[in-house]
Amino acid sequence: MRLVIVLMLLCLVGCAKDLTPGLVGCAENRPPEDECSKEPTTNEHNLNGPKITYLGVGGWLLDWHGEGLLLAPSFSNPSMPPIFVHANEQRIADYLPDVKNVKIILIGHAHYDHLLDVPLIMQRYAPDAIAYGNRTAGHILAVPELHLKHRFINVEQRMYRVHCATPQCYQANPDQWTKVDHVRFMAIQSQHAPHFAGVDLLEGSYYEDLKALPVYVRDWKEGTTLAFLIDLLDDAGRPAYRIHYQDSASNPPFGFPPLIADGKDVDVMIMCAASTSQVSQYPDALLRYLHPRKLLIGHWEDFFGNDLGRPPRLLRAQKEHQMLTRISTGFKDTRMVMPFPLSEVALRDDEP
Ligand SMILES: [Zn+2]
Repeated sequence: MRLVIVLMLLCLVGCAKDLTPGLVGCAENRPPEDECSKEPTTNEHNLNGPKITYLGVGGWLLDWHGEGLLLAPSFSNPSMPPIFVHANEQRIADYLPDVKNVKIILIGHAHYDHLLDVPLIMQRYAPDAIAYGNRTAGHILAVPELHLKHRFINVEQRMYRVHCATPQCYQANPDQWTKVDHVRFMAIQSQHAPHFAGVDLLEGSYYEDLKALPVYVRDWKEGTTLAFLIDLLDDAGRPAYRIHYQDSASNPPFGFPPLIADGKDVDVMIMCAASTSQVSQYPDALLRYLHPRKLLIGHWEDFFGNDLGRPPRLLRAQKEHQMLTRISTGFKDTRMVMPFPLSEVALRDDEP
C-alpha cells in the first residue's frame, strides 16, 4: 500500500522535464566558451571503431571483436504508476538492436526496469547469451516455464563472503574474473539508492526459485546490488578498455572496485543518474577514485511509458542539473556524455 501511495505522489509532484533547447551534441567538440554544462547530450549513430550503444534506462550494448555484451536492457517501460508490469513484446521487437552475437548479459539488480525484458530477449533474440547477476535475479529467471535456469550464473558466489549485519554480504574478489572470449568481468559489491524521500520502494531478496514471473512491481525484489568492472581484451588477452558499470547510484565505498595492480586505468565509467540526490558524493567519490577519461551517464531519461521515437525528457523528481554542474566544474579532465537512448558513443575520444 505504501508503494502505491508513493507512486501516486510521484505522479503528482514530479513531471518529466524537457531538455534545455539547443544543447544536443554540445558535449563533443564544443568551443570552450560554450556553456554546455547543463545537459551534455549526444545523439550519434553509425560510428566507426569501438563503441557502446545506450539502450535507455540501465541498458547498454557493447560490441567488441564481433562479440556482444548486454547490460540489462529495458524497453517495455510501463507507464506511471508502474504497479503491474509485463514485458512488452512489440516494444522489444521494435527497439532491441541485433543481439544475436551476445554471449554475456550483466544484471546489476533484479528490479523490473532491469530484469523484466531479459527473459524474452534471452529466449527470442540472444540464444547464446548467459545472464550473470545476483542470487535473486537467478531465482526469478529460474521460473520453470522460462527454461532459462541453466543460462544464469550467480556471480555473488564468485565473490568473497564477508561478515555484516544482514544474512549475506560479499566483496569483490580481485582474482576472480569471469572470462568469455575477448571479455572478462568481475562483480563488485554495490548498493541501491533510495527511490524517493529516502525510501527504497523495492527492497528485498529471494532465497528460492519462483514458480511464476512477478507481475506486481513490488515482487521484482532487488537482491544484492552489484556493480561490474568489465575489461575488453585484445588478442593477447590484455585489457584494451576497462569499463566500470553501475545501474544504481550508491554511497561510497559501495561500487568501488578492488585494486587491480596491472597499471590499467578505467577508460569509461558508466553511472546511473537516477536518485543521485538520495545518496552522498555520487558520482564524485567514484570519479575521484577511478579518474575515467569518459563518464557515460545512463538512467537519466523519463522512461515511464516513453516513446523511444521521440526526443527524451529528463526523469521526474531529480536534481540532475546540480549533479551535472558539479561534475563539469570539479572533473574537467573527464568527458561527460549523456547519450540519447538508442544512440552510440565512441569508447575513446580520439575515435571518430
Ligand atoms: Zn532499481
